Amino acid sequence: MNVSAHRAFSLLKELAFERVSGSQAEERAANRLLEEARAAGVDAHLEEFTVPCGEVKYARLVVTAPYRKEYEVTGYERAESTPAGGVDLPFYYAETLLPVHLERVKGKAVLINGRLRRADYEKLRKAGAAAILTFSGSTIDRRNETDCDIRKLRETMTEPFGHAVALNMRAADAAEMVRRGAQQVHIELESICCDRVSHNVCAVIEGTEKQEEIVSFGAHYDSVYFSTGVYDNMSGSVIIMELLRYFAAHRPARTVKFNWFGSEEQGLLGSKAWTAAHAEELDRHVLMINVDVAAATLGQNAAPVLATEAAVGYVDALMHEAGFACQVKLDIYSSDCIPFADKGVPAINLCRFGAPGANYIHDRRDSLKSAYIDEKSLDITLQQALFLACRVVNAASFPIAREISGEIRDKVDEYLFRKEAKK
Ligand SMILES: [Zn+2]
Repeated sequence: MNVSAHRAFSLLKELAFERVSGSQAEERAANRLLEEARAAGVDAHLEEFTVPCGEVKYARLVVTAPYRKEYEVTGYERAESTPAGGVDLPFYYAETLLPVHLERVKGKAVLINGRLRRADYEKLRKAGAAAILTFSGSTIDRRNETDCDIRKLRETMTEPFGHAVALNMRAADAAEMVRRGAQQVHIELESICCDRVSHNVCAVIEGTEKQEEIVSFGAHYDSVYFSTGVYDNMSGSVIIMELLRYFAAHRPARTVKFNWFGSEEQGLLGSKAWTAAHAEELDRHVLMINVDVAAATLGQNAAPVLATEAAVGYVDALMHEAGFACQVKLDIYSSDCIPFADKGVPAINLCRFGAPGANYIHDRRDSLKSAYIDEKSLDITLQQALFLACRVVNAASFPIAREISGEIRDKVDEYLFRKEAKK
């Protein structure tokens, strides 16, 4: 039995549907991955965990002065609702939230540039903004070819700073409001919080010689709203499925675990749940290999390593030996490797990023229809993953020290909001 990019890509096509955290579609994908792992003769099961979700019943934004116009908006999930009938507020565009802006936001509906980052949320809450408006997309979007993004107030924001009234709108509409000098807005929002269930798909193949040492493979299989997530990250999901098939047929010296994580897109919730539920075995983990985004036809390979410069040197040398073009570097990567590195497990990500102009992520363009991923290109990361996996899993003595450099530990802490970003 060898790996097959063709078989992997067929599975990817089968699972090319929206798979949002906590949805039935996400569960359907989990069950399909489970079935596939079991069909390879491997012991596999689902592990469920709770995710904080939300449902927006109603969201409305109307400019009432100096002109009147209703704009398309989406309410943030887990936002605060307005009183029934809505609220009327002065409007203010606060751009970058400099002190000069923050002096003027109190009691207003405040539009900021682009994405709502946690640091901005903190500033707006502390400065007393009455409602928060963000925008997504670009000012030249065609309405029938794009979506007004649905966003969520994550617990990393609401736990310390409470729930705010928050809406998202299209960039072109935000620009129009500013251009036309909007002064007063009417906002209505009904947003309820609820918990849903998400799943990790977990499989294990016992080692033949060094069972007590574990190498874990990971890939998230959820997607965001509107995205079929074929690039991000069914590509990685089907790659590690091929590795599972390979090791089912060629038993590894060390124990290998495979985890398809749910709810990664909502803040690495699946891998956080997994590392919490499996805390007692993390000491035996010698490495985690994560695959997140692959198969881009026009693209480039990268391998951020969350360990030490020595580990980078080892991975880089392997890539040279095998003739793989891959930029190996010491860095964090925003994916399920983070909770492992946080617990002291060295981690390597394998990614193939799309080149500019052929790289669509987190919206409806992450789709087979965009014709930017293909089977042959998926094989590039698959072969890199297989080569690296075989070398480490069967190494006589484990080649990567169980060590995370201070630089990476700092970046992980910053990523998890334990310390402020260095200015
Ligand atoms: Zn991803």
